[in-house]
Amino acid sequence: MSTVDRTPREAAAPACRKPTDGTAGRILVDVTAQPLPLFPAPQTDPVSFAGTQHELFTGMNLRIGRSDTVHGVAWRPWINELTLPTPSCHQGWSGLGAAGELVATDASVTCRKCRRILGLDPGRQQIPLFDLP
Ligand SMILES: [Zn+2]
Repeated sequence: MSTVDRTPREAAAPACRKPTDGTAGRILVDVTAQPLPLFPAPQTDPVSFAGTQHELFTGMNLRIGRSDTVHGVAWRPWINELTLPTPSCHQGWSGLGAAGELVATDASVTCRKCRRILGLDPGRQQIPLFDLP
């Protein structure tokens, strides 16, 4: 088929061809199902990311964001056999830790729950809000 015989719609869809065996309809060939790139999606290699996290947090403690509280580090399952650092006390945070939500630090653990989990002295007791009679 030459391009002269094609309608504009047929020319715009080169993956379509008319059957030559007398059957009705069209047969689609060379059709791939590629998603349209609506916005750029970051490509992260899970093995590389988990390895970097281990290098950063092994033997360290962590802070969540800009908080002054220092938590102990526990390793939680992620993908397959890979693990990622999390606070020992299961304190939640938003994100995966890939955008700097968790910050490694060598400061001492100040989270009382983490200190208890790690077998450390829990430190000072909670200050009473008011004196009891
Ligand atoms: Zn903690």
